[in-house]
Amino acid sequence: MNKAFVREPDDNGQRQCPRCGSLGEAVGPGTVAAHLPGGAESGLADAAFFCPYATCEVAYFDLFERVLTTDRLSRAVWPKDPGAPICACFGFTRDEIEADVREGSVRRTRELVDRAKSPAAHCATASASGRSCVADVQRYYMKLRDPTQV
Ligand SMILES: [Zn+2]
Ligand SMILES: [Zn+2]
Repeated sequence: MNKAFVREPDDNGQRQCPRCGSLGEAVGPGTVAAHLPGGAESGLADAAFFCPYATCEVAYFDLFERVLTTDRLSRAVWPKDPGAPICACFGFTRDEIEADVREGSVRRTRELVDRAKSPAAHCATASASGRSCVADVQRYYMKLRDPTQV
């Protein structure tokens, strides 16, 4: 058997999505619960991970290779659904970033970043990855501004 195809556990605490092999981002049980329809059980261990790969159907998985697919979540999430808000705290979608880039402005994007850094942001439960959406917003803006620099 080719060694390259043997999955070895890595020791830096990061785990790979059982479907696509992307490195998952650790999320707390509160993040997973916040994305399930009221009262639904995730069926995952408390130590769960978010798969950040946009086209993978797995939203969350655990170390036992159990998965929670996007169709079981209570709402569409970025980046799995490009129409979902990048920042779910304030319902900020990529349309607004695209409008900024079209107008050669940074007004909307800067405003969002400021709000996302304020105490009103609750990305830990609103964002599917459990992390602040500031990095996603900035990455998307830069990608639109200069598609050669990704
Ligand atoms: Zn995946
Ligand atoms: Zn947010």
